[in-house]
Amino acid sequence: MYDSIIVGCGFAGAVVARELAERGNQNVCIIEKRKHIGGNCYDLYDNEGILIHQYGPHIFHTSKKNVYDYLSRFTQWYPYKHEVVANIRGEYVPVPFNLNTLKMVYGEEKSAKLREKLISTYGPGSRVPILKLKENADKDIQAIADYVYENIFLHYTLKQWGQTPEEIDPSVTARVPVLISEDNGYFQDTYQGMPLEGFTPLFEKLLDYPNITLMLDTDANELLTLENGQIYFQGEPFSGQVVFTGPIDEFFSCCYGQLPYRSLNFVFEHYEKSDYQPKAVVNYTVSEDYTRITEFKKLTGQKMPEHTTIMKEYPIPYSGKSGEIPYYSIINDENLALYAKYCQLLEGYPNFHLLGRLAEYKYYNIDAIVDKALTLADTLLG
Ligand code: FAD
Ligand code: UDP
Repeated sequence: MYDSIIVGCGFAGAVVARELAERGNQNVCIIEKRKHIGGNCYDLYDNEGILIHQYGPHIFHTSKKNVYDYLSRFTQWYPYKHEVVANIRGEYVPVPFNLNTLKMVYGEEKSAKLREKLISTYGPGSRVPILKLKENADKDIQAIADYVYENIFLHYTLKQWGQTPEEIDPSVTARVPVLISEDNGYFQDTYQGMPLEGFTPLFEKLLDYPNITLMLDTDANELLTLENGQIYFQGEPFSGQVVFTGPIDEFFSCCYGQLPYRSLNFVFEHYEKSDYQPKAVVNYTVSEDYTRITEFKKLTGQKMPEHTTIMKEYPIPYSGKSGEIPYYSIINDENLALYAKYCQLLEGYPNFHLLGRLAEYKYYNIDAIVDKALTLADTLLG
């Protein structure tokens, strides 16, 4: 009955489904465990009428024109450029640490000299990961690196990962490099914005195509099995393509043990006032148990005088208990070796494809996963 089965309805699954249905004229079935579409990008209105992100703040940003053009078929954009500040002992300073932050921390005169040194060492506009900055032998640059490490990265990273910046994969802290520029933006991508009506309406449009069947509230692990080189769907041999975007360890009943993740506990609070904080996101880099506070109105541009909803993010270990959500894969050699063992179980099943942040045990931004989903669809459509 179906040409392809897609497991999971986040960006990975929804984009592939749309492409196979529209360009390949296929009958596509999407199976989604949750009661809603959109994966972790799902948004909804809370009881007070404020558009919130249930699974953490999501801001769209990309320099990939093909991705921007593709998603623009399904949404218009609210032109939002994300700026974050860190609360350091009550002072708000721009993050990533940049030349404006330098001036605020060191004062006009001292920062002028340091600024020239940073520019001549790294070049104007460059992006220097904190662990690279720390390697510089120059005394002044060392002092800046120590300040940034201690006040921006160390405590935040300990909260987020339970490990120091040196202990985690360097690509993680490199996502927020020291910027040798006056750009206060959190991202430096060409295209940035929020879907004008929200992420969920974007997904509704993406999935609005005749030959897509959506099964919500359904765990694909109960419907799909693999045996002797054959895929079975609801007990019947299935010879079409399967694109799987869920956790691969769970698909194999964690037979080699669970892939480790960090999880998050989100605490929402509503206030009867117009503003809670200076920016949509404030990072708590030296104090508090939560890592950051998001004030949603400031992300989406929603006009709601005298009401605002905020969310505090408390990082927690992921134990795999029901109800817990695996958010961040913990990239290290041991975990990647375990992941590779699960992938080996798929040898002999060329029609079973892994895609997305869970199935590939990898961090993806929205644009990167949309791009990867479009590429996989191209491959599947020949
Ligand atoms: P998901 O969105 O997680 O979708 C996977 C879906 O598969 C889920 O809906 C899940 O329920 C379903 N599923 C799993 N197992 C099964 C099963 N057995 N049966 C059926 N369904 C199943 N990216 C940005 O570009 N900008 C941001 O600002 C940003 N902020 C982020 C903030 C946080 C806190 C986190 C954790 C990530 C953020 N990201 C951001 C990354 C973004 O969330 C991902 O790029 C995106 O969610 C990846 O989409 P996906 O489809 O791979 O995964
Ligand atoms: N980070 C930090 N302090 C900050 C912002 C980020 O230490 O103020 C580190 C932290 O380890 C975090 C990583 O940089 O996990 C990546 O940050 P990003 O904002 O990209 O994390 P995400 O949005 O994925 O939670």
